[in-house]
Amino acid sequence: MLIVFGFKTVFRVLPGRMLTCRYCGITALQRLEEQANKFTLFFIPVFTTSRRYQMVCSNCGGSTSLSRDDLKAIG
Ligand SMILES: [Zn+2]
Repeated sequence: MLIVFGFKTVFRVLPGRMLTCRYCGITALQRLEEQANKFTLFFIPVFTTSRRYQMVCSNCGGSTSLSRDDLKAIG
């Protein structure tokens, strides 16, 4: 029997927040992006192996990596 498995990266944009940007210092919408690596079996995502978050400033485009705790802090 042949078992087909692999990994897939899923990119998702979450609702942003109005925060002061650490790069340009302007209070602007910070886009929140989630990048999830998923384990797939027969091309169907089964579970998530890792998740990364980053915040991208809509004014200057500066991006900041976020941990899960950072994400909770900005709620
Ligand atoms: Zn900025």
